[in-house]
Amino acid sequence: MSSNHEIPSYLTPHGLGPWGNYLEQIDRVTPYLGSLARWVETLKRPKRILIVDVPIERDNGTIAHFEGYRVQHNLSRGPGKGGVRFHQDVTLSEVMALSAWMTVKNAAVNVPYGGAKGGIRVDPKTLSKGELMRMTRRYTSEINIIIGPNKDIPAPDVNTNEQTMAWMMDTYSMNQGSTATGVVTGKPVSLGGSLGRRDATGRGVYVIGCEAASKRGMQIHGARIAVQGFGNVGGVAARLFAEAGARIVAVQDHATTVVHEGGLNIEKLLAHVAANGSVEGFEGADCFIERDQFWGVDCDIMIPAALEQQITSANASQIKAKIILEGANGPTTPAADDILHDMGVLVVPDVIANAGGVTVSYFEWVQDFSSFFWHEDEINERLTRIMREAFAAVWQVGQDNKVSLRTAAFIVACTRVLQAREVRGLYP
Ligand code: GLU
Repeated sequence: MSSNHEIPSYLTPHGLGPWGNYLEQIDRVTPYLGSLARWVETLKRPKRILIVDVPIERDNGTIAHFEGYRVQHNLSRGPGKGGVRFHQDVTLSEVMALSAWMTVKNAAVNVPYGGAKGGIRVDPKTLSKGELMRMTRRYTSEINIIIGPNKDIPAPDVNTNEQTMAWMMDTYSMNQGSTATGVVTGKPVSLGGSLGRRDATGRGVYVIGCEAASKRGMQIHGARIAVQGFGNVGGVAARLFAEAGARIVAVQDHATTVVHEGGLNIEKLLAHVAANGSVEGFEGADCFIERDQFWGVDCDIMIPAALEQQITSANASQIKAKIILEGANGPTTPAADDILHDMGVLVVPDVIANAGGVTVSYFEWVQDFSSFFWHEDEINERLTRIMREAFAAVWQVGQDNKVSLRTAAFIVACTRVLQAREVRGLYP
């Protein structure tokens, strides 16, 4: 067999990857689903997987091909909903897991969607703006057959943003022959986007963090916080916690880890990252530490807001925080969950902690359909109410069943999904 052929990532034998972690989470919730457990297999199989080839002409005249995915995990409660990620490590297993977590998240906060996710295996930093646009447009055209305002609605995720959504909306609309703003969320406000959407995920992390802290008798004012990831989630959450008087004592991004015991000046750090692309070289800090040392930083709250599988059995026992707020999707492995549980650490799961983004995406979609746009105060107020109510419901289920908040969130969400599945019945 010739060895000079590149193996597509979906054939690479990496085991189950993040999808395996999701399956373990489903195993943990199954005993609490009562008679609905009869339907649980439906959650262990994505409904639909589309793998697409995305060819573009590079600026230098060569042709490059990228692997693209769109996975619709479950559509029982409504159209698919979930972001699109551009990252060099994207795999099918990852997109499957992310799509499934969207199913659980959307049901946990009770927005009327199923779960979906997309991605392209590419390092977007290696593309020019023109190349990025051509790749985004070709990808959108390839998945055009399964997306739509009533079918599946993409949104931003890691390394995608308002500009990406504008290109996706335009490409879909060109293919349809009419402008369809509701096909994606997270668009620029000038194109039917929603006020408050950009900050919504970070704001949700902050709101949920305040609820969790009050359950633990912890004050946000003066609390020491460590944040991994300083993008749209970690950066905004850090800013809101700092504004509430917390001290952001450590920030880790893809390049480095910065520590400042007195609390980093978040406005200055955000400006530094906007200018330089990373926290590297920031001057207002005590020191920079090794990547692995981040987990042992002395803090009260830790916010993993980067990628999945960061808190593992290898580092969980070093964690000093009393509360973990999962800004990222899937940052904690099931084995690490057990270790943290035994240590008495309160882990607020992704499917609640970072659900603010998709909640305001829902508001954006509703505004697009009705062509009637709301004030930002109204959006933030509704977001806060939904997040608090979801947290309270999950907390109560956790207490009643003596289970972790993750299993409690899965009980609430999987019950909703499987009730819909059951009442709809099997076709034919
Ligand atoms: N990518 C975000 C998430 O993981 C938002 C998804 C959306 O707004 O549809 O929740």
